[in-house]
Amino acid sequence: MGCWANIVRHLEGVEIDGVTFKSCLRSKLGIGDKIMFWKDIWVGAVPLQDRWPVLFRSDLKKNDNVRDRFTSEGDIAVLNTDWVMDLTSVEGISEAHDAGMLLHQIKFSGNKDAWVWEPDKNGVFSVAAVKKWLRGGRLTHGISAMKWEKWLPIKVNFFVWRLRLDRIPTRSALLRRNISMPSCVCPLCETGIETAQHLLLAECIFAAEVWSRVHRWCRIVPNYNNSILDLLNLKDVSLNSKWEQKLIRGVFMITCWVLWKERNNKVFNSSKPRVVEVVASVKAFSFFWFKHRTRFKDVVWND
Ligand SMILES: [Zn+2]
Repeated sequence: MGCWANIVRHLEGVEIDGVTFKSCLRSKLGIGDKIMFWKDIWVGAVPLQDRWPVLFRSDLKKNDNVRDRFTSEGDIAVLNTDWVMDLTSVEGISEAHDAGMLLHQIKFSGNKDAWVWEPDKNGVFSVAAVKKWLRGGRLTHGISAMKWEKWLPIKVNFFVWRLRLDRIPTRSALLRRNISMPSCVCPLCETGIETAQHLLLAECIFAAEVWSRVHRWCRIVPNYNNSILDLLNLKDVSLNSKWEQKLIRGVFMITCWVLWKERNNKVFNSSKPRVVEVVASVKAFSFFWFKHRTRFKDVVWND
């Protein structure tokens, strides 16, 4: 699954019209070495971690594949007996009973594990099918039809898509959802209140310095009054060719994504972000993806 595993990780928490991304993706058991026993949907309608929360909590091997939990005896797969179940509560006992019923007739097909995308009528799981699903929902702000930049990886497109919907978990966004925060101050400049608009635009002195250098690199005069939407829609930017527009828009998307990455790195790993390094990352990602994901293979670095 490789690349798909990545997509799944990035989309895991997404919900459209009350339907989660994960619940749309069903696995078809083959050998069982790519499907996670607890976390993927492979038997029944929900992941087993939701079906048996008590057993899941006490299990030490939460990331096991389905294969790891069974031994083959001829055609039949027998559940391994080294699973220590928590049978100290009524819930635990009833879950264990259910587990015994559900898992006693599992069959491995011997084919590769496969993924079925429920919203697609043929079950085909593809980037196009997922995008269709993401766009199909009744999204707020009336901007469901965001243009994806194909030369950027899905994780960057997806980040920007969430950004446009104001779904980035900044400190003030978390506070809005009643999650208590020790502080709402922006981790990058340590002065302003952290909102998406602050963190990713010129309100933040750290971000402003990054943007100023990125604009200079793109040979564009910045407009610091722009909103994120204006910025990504290339308002005030006049460019000649379609590819130039795609390139600049992509670089701006990468800048937002890198700023968010740096912010997380500081919050979670206590890193000390520096403007020059952030700008260097923006340039390096832009160059790498442009070279490898477009037909412009011969593009050269021009700092
Ligand atoms: Zn700031």
